[in-house]
Amino acid sequence: MENIAILGSTGSIGTNTLAIVRTHPGRFRVRALAANQNVEKLAEQAKEFRPAIVCLYDSSLLPELEKKMGRLGIRVVTGEDGLLEICRLPEVKKVIFAMVGAVGLKPIFEAIRAGKNVAIANKEPLVMAGSLLMREASRRGVSVLPIDSEHSGLWQCLEGHAAKSVKKLILTSSGGPFRTKKGSFAKITPRLALKHPKWKMGAKITIDSATLMNKGLEVIEAANLFEMPADQIEVLIHPEAIIHALVEFVDGSHLAHLGITDMRLPIQYALSYPERLVNHLPTLDLPMLSRFSFAQPDKKRFPCLELGYEASRIGGSMPAALNAANESAVKAFLNEEAAFTDIPKTIEKVMKKHRVIRDPGFQEILETDIWARREAENIL
Ligand code: MG
Repeated sequence: MENIAILGSTGSIGTNTLAIVRTHPGRFRVRALAANQNVEKLAEQAKEFRPAIVCLYDSSLLPELEKKMGRLGIRVVTGEDGLLEICRLPEVKKVIFAMVGAVGLKPIFEAIRAGKNVAIANKEPLVMAGSLLMREASRRGVSVLPIDSEHSGLWQCLEGHAAKSVKKLILTSSGGPFRTKKGSFAKITPRLALKHPKWKMGAKITIDSATLMNKGLEVIEAANLFEMPADQIEVLIHPEAIIHALVEFVDGSHLAHLGITDMRLPIQYALSYPERLVNHLPTLDLPMLSRFSFAQPDKKRFPCLELGYEASRIGGSMPAALNAANESAVKAFLNEEAAFTDIPKTIEKVMKKHRVIRDPGFQEILETDIWARREAENIL
């Protein structure tokens, strides 16, 4: 039995993680759950999984949670302090981070410092502070296990290979909902952008997939996780979305990771690693697949991708600035306060204004985050 904690348990990754736990009742025990505002679902999950502690981030909803949860003898905590307390729980071995955006950053560091292995689904912390985070993890002797499907694929292809034998990492992208769209992107509405052709995900990442910023962030994430320069990381459009990642080796061989488009697959591997567990997910029906196609992404129509490369090449605090500007711009777009095409424009302006801090510490990354959000809001 492995004791785990799930931060962001009511979102898409969180509920899928609990689905995997449910499939392997003798294998994982949920000791802590944390959610932002979804009282209903958190109470339901608490009743089913009986953790020792739950955190509801939004303290104004605590009375409602206590009413819904009833007397289960579960300790209830709130806010950032609550998240940090969960990350330090002595009996927990692995913490799964499934929150949205930058809010996961502090808790991840707290968990690493407390000696926990961390499985990370939300890419923003790895984008903002990836190298700092990897350094801290190696100093504490803990593992950082990627849940992002492409990075899980890369990780699996890279296993057992020396860094010097790797020539290139390749991330694939389905291309998002506007891959073949003709004409201007200026009139794209949130409703249209929220329809992803292949993956069912939360709103923020679905918009990132539509702008291809998701791939831009993933380039930075891969560069940090696998210590590769951005220019050795390639993005290819692969509309079938069956191959999630490839590694090209110096001898010309490629290894690829194939799988169904279901996040439960990478979630389960991060949970069970280094073991592989039997599950009841649909399997890949190879004879049904008539073809695999690959194409170069259109960087002119999707400028966010190149911004991701640029931020990774510049390094230092720049990825944190890009990430914060993107979060603000996406929020404004979802609230119909900004156009789809304002997203890359805003990020580019914030990046131009940013004075890069080399080798930023934790505090400087947080300050960059706050600065870039404010700048983005001013521009918007
Ligand atoms: Mg991904």
